[in-house]
Amino acid sequence: MRRILGFAAFIAIASPALLAPLAAQDATTVIHTSKLLDGKGATMTNADIVVVNGKITRVGPAAAVPKGAREIDLRGKTVLPGLIDVHSHLTWYFNRQGRYHQGGRNPNDSDTPIESILAAAANAYATLMAGFTTIQSPGSSEDADLRDWIATQGLPGPRILTSLVALQGGSPDTLRALVQRRKAAGADLIKVFASASIRDGGKQSMTDEQLLAVCGEAKAQGLRTIVHAHSAESVRATVNAGCGQIEHGIFVTQSELDLMAQKNVYFDPQCSLVFHNYLDNRAKYEGIGNYNAEGFAAMERAIPLAADDIRKAIATKGLKITYGTDAVAGAHGRNGEDLICRVKDAGESPMHAIVSATSVSAESLRLGDKIGTIAVGMEADIIATDGDLMADITAVRRVSFVMKGGKVFRNDGKN
Ligand SMILES: [Zn+2]
Repeated sequence: MRRILGFAAFIAIASPALLAPLAAQDATTVIHTSKLLDGKGATMTNADIVVVNGKITRVGPAAAVPKGAREIDLRGKTVLPGLIDVHSHLTWYFNRQGRYHQGGRNPNDSDTPIESILAAAANAYATLMAGFTTIQSPGSSEDADLRDWIATQGLPGPRILTSLVALQGGSPDTLRALVQRRKAAGADLIKVFASASIRDGGKQSMTDEQLLAVCGEAKAQGLRTIVHAHSAESVRATVNAGCGQIEHGIFVTQSELDLMAQKNVYFDPQCSLVFHNYLDNRAKYEGIGNYNAEGFAAMERAIPLAADDIRKAIATKGLKITYGTDAVAGAHGRNGEDLICRVKDAGESPMHAIVSATSVSAESLRLGDKIGTIAVGMEADIIATDGDLMADITAVRRVSFVMKGGKVFRNDGKN
């Protein structure tokens, strides 16, 4: 397609994709598809998606293309909503000495703030190119600038929701004040550590009273809470404190899964990317904090437990399972790997996994009316994989088209 399409479309074709201008949103775009997953479990065949000003205005059988519209041909691919990772740490990266840098928290790392934010921008770009158009970061102080530059200053990356710096302890009064401070600083949610890390055994690290203070205050301020909790008792305490979402939960039993379902608490388990990524990059982490022999052994032991948790979670009636990878340094751009793990190692159906990583995760972010579904009125966050994703979940490694808010960031096809 190289006919003259008017000024806006001309700019869209002529400009480097990274600098795709606002003008790209002005034109009407018609996307032709042969297999479309809507993100809620439905599959459509030979549908067109019409996008105007960044929003989806029609999804349905192919019809006459409006005059002057840009056409994108995704037939032969699997088209689906932009994927969502509700747990990704974009500021974590490996520095140029091949060692792990953890946003401002590693005193042995001499990287400048400029180097660190460039690394985060590269992570954001890799994440978007992998088909993830929205992520939630639980969280770091640099996230706010990254989020805002992506949203308003043309930096390519996923939509970001951030907790800013997570809460770990303090008196109930201090914790309530910290929740208010995070809100004032622009946090989209509150992240809390209710247990130690998996490398330190995952035991409960906040009292019930502290959890009640944080999650109660967050609720009063209209903020969601997501809570790091590994042990069964920390998960129970978190759910009973009225918090909104459990991260990790590696040692949960059926009774905690049932409790989450009953109290409408989202569960965000990881399948294997985070563990494999640590083990594969061991030399880059080892010797920093609790990244020691014992810690790596704990992560190795977690791999079969994690798949087993997900298997049980899927079988738990009414439990809402989000898609969060806990992507850290080395994992950005490979966020789709847990979809493969969930299908192949935890026995989840490909459609259930995709719905989790689109509409269910969108709903967990309270953005279910804007993203996570291909339907009229939604943001045009649309991606495509080469191959049939439902027949071969590894097609998630072959994302070849990415549109976010109506803007094309990747198109490996020949349109
Ligand atoms: Zn994390």
